[in-house]
Amino acid sequence: MTGDTGRDDPLPAGTATTETEAIHRLLVASVRDYAIFALDATGHVMTWNAGAERLKGYLPEEIIGKHFSIFYPEETRATDFPTYELEVASREGVFEDEGWRIRKDGKTFWANVVITALRDETGTLVGFAKVTRDLTERRKAQQQAIEDALRVAEAESANRAKSQFLAAMSHELRTPLNAIGGYIDLLSLGVHGPLSDAQSQAIERVRNAQQHLVTLISDLLNFSRMEAGRLTYEIADVDIAEVMESVRIMIEAQATARQVEVHWEPAEGPVVGAADQARIGQILLNLLGNAIKFTEPGGTIRIRCARDGKVVRLEVEDTGIGIPADQLDAIFEPFTQVGRTLTSPQQGTGLGLAISRDLARAMDGDITVDSEPGRGSTFTLTLPAARS
Ligand code: ADP
Repeated sequence: MTGDTGRDDPLPAGTATTETEAIHRLLVASVRDYAIFALDATGHVMTWNAGAERLKGYLPEEIIGKHFSIFYPEETRATDFPTYELEVASREGVFEDEGWRIRKDGKTFWANVVITALRDETGTLVGFAKVTRDLTERRKAQQQAIEDALRVAEAESANRAKSQFLAAMSHELRTPLNAIGGYIDLLSLGVHGPLSDAQSQAIERVRNAQQHLVTLISDLLNFSRMEAGRLTYEIADVDIAEVMESVRIMIEAQATARQVEVHWEPAEGPVVGAADQARIGQILLNLLGNAIKFTEPGGTIRIRCARDGKVVRLEVEDTGIGIPADQLDAIFEPFTQVGRTLTSPQQGTGLGLAISRDLARAMDGDITVDSEPGRGSTFTLTLPAARS
């Protein structure tokens, strides 16, 4: 709206310019999120807006006329960096930087700074416009994100190291244990001469302990392999009754020794899952082993399976000690044993259920538990049913 203005113009040109300038001045003055101020050609503060006051803590009368290097930490001032900034801004037109700045109260904040050279119509440098933003929060968030990422990476590598350690340890332990097993066999076969009854009994105890250790170690090995993602699964149609039968043979002696009755309930019709037969056997063996271990003599265990739409279920129910409600999730975590003390009689690693549930989930199934302390527990393995 310059030059020849017609009568119809709502505002004379001069008024409009003045108003625009006023609004502009008001705008700059009221912005609170940015410190916006002018420096003279040698870097002394000329104007001061609300944002500058908020960010840097100085009132206009305290700062106007001061050199802007006051906003910089001592060590930055020592390198004459503020002068360098003005030189670059005047040469290139603009200078942008991020770094620590100091408030009046001595506190530091992380600032993004843009310095723009101001020149008059003849091109003479009259000063600089400086816009500063407080990025302390953003920088904190960024650094937090970096630290979080580093922590996750550390935890992952610690996990890997743990798995590798467990695998190596288990392997090392197995070798001498196998040797022990071999010599027990030789001794009990009478290869080194006939044994007295007392000697035979002692050898049997050694054998039991040796077998127990072998089981624990194979648990550890399994767990570490699983953690390292090195287990493979052979998914095929599996007759669950068949798996039950194969486990039955292995578990019967243990149940008899503990004086626990085991009922193998027949299924109504075929129950066929799509899973890895050996892994189902391993899971069932673990669930049954627990049921026997945590059921007092005279108790009963029932095993049943059924097809239910797209899934098959395998249930192990016992009349044992049960599990407190607040522990039902925890028992599936590695190394968790309810009420475990150093002298508690039940043995185990606390890995069985963690392994079993991981195996089940890897086959698109799951293990759940229902339990009442003092009455017993029911563990349910769910697996996808075979398509046919
Ligand atoms: P472990 O048997 O080696 O201790 P598990 O992971 O198989 O390890 O079981 C973890 C814990 O869950 C057991 O120590 C026990 O406290 C509890 N638990 C598992 N099965 C039963 C059960 N049938 N009855 C009562 N408690 C059980």
